[in-house]
Amino acid sequence: MLKKDISPEFIQSLYEDNDKALQFIADIKWEKGFTCRKCGHTNFCQGKTVASRRCTRCKKEESATAHTIFHNCKFPISKAFYIVYTVCFEKRKISANNLSNELELNPMTCWKFRKKIQECAEKRQNTPDDEIDLMDVLMGE
Ligand SMILES: [Zn+2]
Repeated sequence: MLKKDISPEFIQSLYEDNDKALQFIADIKWEKGFTCRKCGHTNFCQGKTVASRRCTRCKKEESATAHTIFHNCKFPISKAFYIVYTVCFEKRKISANNLSNELELNPMTCWKFRKKIQECAEKRQNTPDDEIDLMDVLMGE
């Protein structure tokens, strides 16, 4: 998956498919290969959850979302991607209330997650008009 392939349409399509969203995160996260954070081993097998990886030496498992902006996300990743989409691609401002209605999530949950993405995006922009690098935002933590 190359940066230029990430279109708004693609990000939006992840909203319909939670597994695909997780797989996408795993693809970017381990783009340069897997290295176990515990023992440094580079061989892995499929973990217990979708798109997770398990070290074949120490058996430590890492989820696709660990150490990304989706870490500790308490709602489906697909919905989180929709929020990412609205922040990074949509120019119109959607209120947290509208988002929460649309996604059937708690308004505070929406507001907090969106704030996190916005902060992450702003940190990487020199001016508000700069293009947001989606990869940087996703791997933001
Ligand atoms: Zn290991």
